[in-house]
Amino acid sequence: MAGLQPVRGTQDLLPEAQRRHRVVVETARRIAERYGYQEVATPIFEFTEVFARPIGETTDIVAKEMYTFQDRGGEEITLRPEYTAGIVRAILSNGLTQRLPLKLFASGPMFRYERPQKGRFRQFHQIDVELLGVAQPLGDVEIIALSAAILDALGVLQRTKLELNTLGDTASRSAYRQALIGYYTSRSDGLSEDSLRRLERNPLRILDSKDEGDKRVNAEAPPFAAYLTQEAHDFFAKVREGLEALGIAYEINPRLVRGLDYYCHTAFEFVTTELGAQGTVLGGGRYDGLMGVMGGPETPGVGWAAGIERLALLVAEPAPPVRPIALVPLGQAGEVMALKLAESLRRAGFTVDLGYSGNIKRRLQRADKIKARAAVILGDNELARQVAALRDLDTGEQTEIPLAALEDRLAPFR
Ligand code: ATP
Ligand code: MG
Repeated sequence: MAGLQPVRGTQDLLPEAQRRHRVVVETARRIAERYGYQEVATPIFEFTEVFARPIGETTDIVAKEMYTFQDRGGEEITLRPEYTAGIVRAILSNGLTQRLPLKLFASGPMFRYERPQKGRFRQFHQIDVELLGVAQPLGDVEIIALSAAILDALGVLQRTKLELNTLGDTASRSAYRQALIGYYTSRSDGLSEDSLRRLERNPLRILDSKDEGDKRVNAEAPPFAAYLTQEAHDFFAKVREGLEALGIAYEINPRLVRGLDYYCHTAFEFVTTELGAQGTVLGGGRYDGLMGVMGGPETPGVGWAAGIERLALLVAEPAPPVRPIALVPLGQAGEVMALKLAESLRRAGFTVDLGYSGNIKRRLQRADKIKARAAVILGDNELARQVAALRDLDTGEQTEIPLAALEDRLAPFR
């Protein structure tokens, strides 16, 4: 069984790690609700075409990273590499375009065949926010404000930097594309193999290349700003005004081009220097063209996704689990009584651990190990008198209490 190891790039989330993930998801869910976002979930796999064209055949995700297979019925299936395309598919499948604007929150596992390293996995998790049907820059401002509020609630905002750029509208992008093709063609001897390929199919993508040679060429590339139409320029100005009004600090990064093909106007990322090379914790932008590409009515959209693993590395140690009350039966009668008491205490809201076997010493050792706050010792003699021994496991103090008063006497240890 392959040495009983998990598949490369996947990991088990044991209780401590899962607690960190949970803090991230629960915080995001709570804050998103305050902004009026409702939670949805879509299937973990979709027909491959849901992702292939919308994300873009030339993107790394579609070209190299998708988990695609034929199922037993011969359907072409792909494990979702991101949420947006699936959510837009769900909106179309369910006829929700009549109910715009839609404000949606989601979280769950994603799958990409990448080279595993710190902060980069083949199965990872994202939180995701999508706002559909809002063409105004106010939408961009709101979802960025929401992302900042979530990062703030997680105690991460101060350790990140918001980078912002505009990808303009279709007219700006095609003018800029021509300018880039001209520039890169004149500097093609300095470009990597990958970027030479991008030059033909998607020259914008060269701008965020991580190759050192490409970076040198990029340093002198013409700036997008010079090719923005007046409308695209005004749109971006409004986004910036909104962020400034809210006191959300940002830096313009003219090299920031999001990896996905359907982005336009606003692109943004929150980055940190605390995670090494995998410094982007959250990224998003506007994707007005996506719904149309997927066969739906032209509908503006803007959203973002954040990597839960990366955020989980940055959040403070989460609160430890609730300390249980240990029930320690000492004989036949005690066992039955403990079983019944455990149920009724749990129904009353206590966290209760029931030792399954062993003498009193073993059971108290276990109570210690699970950090129980108190132990209720149920001996047959005591039970005959309808009492039990209550031991405070922090002080060692032990008192006899009537069974009828158990819930009251346990209240301080809750
Ligand atoms: P990167 O540049 O790090 O590859 P990306 O542009 O591919 O990121 P997005 O598709 O925008 O990432 O996904 C949003 C977020 O999801 C990222 O900012 C990151 O936090 C997280 N993420 C993306 N890929 C992975 C992965 N393989 N493992 C863990 N987290 C990931
Ligand atoms: Mg990537």
